[in-house]
Amino acid sequence: MSHDPNCIFCKIATGQIPGRKAYEDDELLAFHDIHPWAPVHLLIIPKVHVAMLSDVQPEHQSWLGKMLLLAPRLMKEQGVSNGFRTVINTGADGGQEVYHLHMHVYGGPRPWLKG
Ligand code: AMP
Ligand code: ZN
Repeated sequence: MSHDPNCIFCKIATGQIPGRKAYEDDELLAFHDIHPWAPVHLLIIPKVHVAMLSDVQPEHQSWLGKMLLLAPRLMKEQGVSNGFRTVINTGADGGQEVYHLHMHVYGGPRPWLKG
């Protein structure tokens, strides 16, 4: 598994810094965003370091699909029952701040801070 030693999400994936984990398997990790935009705000990441969505390759197809399958399952587990939003920011104009591919999944009763 390839990690970037300077990447904050790789450090969460390898346990070097703590994260409030909601799900983990061989390929994926989900944890609570440190600055939530909504009552429930998870980040789903691949454990392998891929900087952004525009860097994905055909061999990533399996865990990319799993990320989407996981979103509704985790929202249900978190008690979100009235819909949720999924967002992947890509690159500078996409508003990406952390360069390790991640999908925001957020929901819960409105109002939300963002969106
Ligand atoms: P983006 O703009 O899509 O790159 O969003 C990065 C997200 O990562 C932001 O919502 C941050 O609040 C979140 N974040 C940054 N550092 C951490 C951390 N150590 N633990 C959890 N979430 C984080
Ligand atoms: Zn990384």
